[in-house]
Amino acid sequence: MYNTKLDKLGRIVIPVSLRRELELGVGCPLEVYAEGGRIVIRRPSTCCRLCYATIDGGSDSLLCESCIEKIKNLS
Ligand SMILES: [Zn+2]
Repeated sequence: MYNTKLDKLGRIVIPVSLRRELELGVGCPLEVYAEGGRIVIRRPSTCCRLCYATIDGGSDSLLCESCIEKIKNLS
């Protein structure tokens, strides 16, 4: 567990070790909501694992179309 403080603008710092463990990069969209008196912060399951763009709904892919195309064009 990590302890952090809310700053005057309402921000918190997520420790780098936790960001690495959860593969949270700069710009990664996060969902924040209250549940049972707790604050929950989670990465949407629809977030591209390479560029962190939101993947259109209904896809089971871990990558967005743009990243898939870039990988296809590498060869
Ligand atoms: Zn992507």
